[in-house]
Amino acid sequence: MANCQNCGYKWSYSTSLKKTFLRFKRSMECPNCGKKQYQSQQSLKRSSSLTLIPLALLPIAWLLDLEISTAYGLAGFLLLAFVLLHPFTLELSNEEQPLW
Ligand SMILES: [Zn+2]
Repeated sequence: MANCQNCGYKWSYSTSLKKTFLRFKRSMECPNCGKKQYQSQQSLKRSSSLTLIPLALLPIAWLLDLEISTAYGLAGFLLLAFVLLHPFTLELSNEEQPLW
């Protein structure tokens, strides 16, 4: 789980989840010290590769001749799994880092 890079405060699962998905900017405020935190580059890479999994599923669904609704259900399930697992991949940084 993520630790604030400014004060070392450990973000809880629900804090990480809310800060990640209920935001409009790239920055997230630490609930303890209020300093802006950003998702670290490594963590960004990890989460962006996770989002590719549902996409990779499409050709597989086509190959296996799955019903489109089954494929969508599977993609939805993976998306949910991604959202729920995201706090475990979250790492914080004091500065905004580019993805690549
Ligand atoms: Zn903090």
